[in-house]
Amino acid sequence: MLEKSNTSGSDCEAGSECLKIRAHHLCCIQGFQGYGYSPVFVANLRAVISDIKASPSRPLELVSECDVICTSCPSERECIAQKSIASQRIREMDLVVMEKLKIAEGTVMEADKAFRLINSQLANASDVEEVCGSCKWRQKCLWYMQDER
Ligand code: SF4
Ligand code: SF4
Repeated sequence: MLEKSNTSGSDCEAGSECLKIRAHHLCCIQGFQGYGYSPVFVANLRAVISDIKASPSRPLELVSECDVICTSCPSERECIAQKSIASQRIREMDLVVMEKLKIAEGTVMEADKAFRLINSQLANASDVEEVCGSCKWRQKCLWYMQDER
């Protein structure tokens, strides 16, 4: 079952179908093939993905903070605190994506539109490297490995 984000400050209305998603997770979702930080994390990510696939017009709030995927991650506390170099680097990935998509923090858009936008705006290898260059999952990520990347 999909776990709810426990982060605050969401523009998604309480009780709405809106999902808070870190901007760079738009890429990770498309590259997922069953790997992750823990079995609980993988199960939650599967649930998030199947939820979005079942409702492609579901609104997503695009953010640079912890989201519905992070909520089952062993590193969530570290990423919420934003104190480590690693968590700051991850946030930087979100900011790069938002800059390339020309959207502001908290932008809400339908999921299928968000995926179309990111796949059109991050179309070349240098864009992808800018986002994913330091990710340890690159060789297990279908989105990173697709085409000539
Ligand atoms: S390489 Fe890493 S950051 Fe990039 S899309 Fe894949 S899992 Fe996400
Ligand atoms: S490492 Fe941080 S940003 Fe990535 S899923 Fe875990 S908590 Fe979220």
